[in-house]
Amino acid sequence: MKDSRLTTMARRGLTFPAETREQIRKTGIRCRPQLEIVYQQRANEWKLRGEESGGAVADLGHYVGFVGKDGQSLPWLQRVQNFLPNGVHAVVVEAELVRVEMFRYEQTYDLLITHHSLEGAERKRPELKSEILFLGRNGTLETELWGKDAAFRGGAMPHFFTRSGEQGLPDSPWIDATLKVTEAVCCTGCRHCHLLEAGAVKHALEVPA
Ligand SMILES: [Zn+2]
Repeated sequence: MKDSRLTTMARRGLTFPAETREQIRKTGIRCRPQLEIVYQQRANEWKLRGEESGGAVADLGHYVGFVGKDGQSLPWLQRVQNFLPNGVHAVVVEAELVRVEMFRYEQTYDLLITHHSLEGAERKRPELKSEILFLGRNGTLETELWGKDAAFRGGAMPHFFTRSGEQGLPDSPWIDATLKVTEAVCCTGCRHCHLLEAGAVKHALEVPA
């Protein structure tokens, strides 16, 4: 694969041929892997903003979620509930993010795990630094997690192979997130937040006694 294409994927997420993009659009699944650089005025800090989003229909799934740099769960800033399923589920704003994106067509899966941080945060406007941690294409999982084998959800992930035919798995810090995103791309009519979690309420108003 060309370097420029990998750079684009690291930054913007998995790339698909136009026909595939059109098919995804028709399903109504809205998965937005793009990250935004935001400025927090009160804290005087630059941060990254991501939207956990996506879901599945029977034959296709596309989902993006976020974890911390060591694979730990992150709290969402805001939970979003939409009338329509398979859209935005939650918003996260952090200094550093690991993005986990998966695409499924029937029993074939693509997985992209990327690390994102800000470079030169002390400057006027920092730059997004994106790095690929794992890229697996055409992985397979025989189990039909969206149908008859739904009971296995959360405990199964696709197998990926390297070009030379060896098993290629994400490193151990990303296994838990991979299991969760596999569940998400098999979750038809998804209204959950599969990776980000409810955290302590950071922004509760302080009421004087
Ligand atoms: Zn779901």
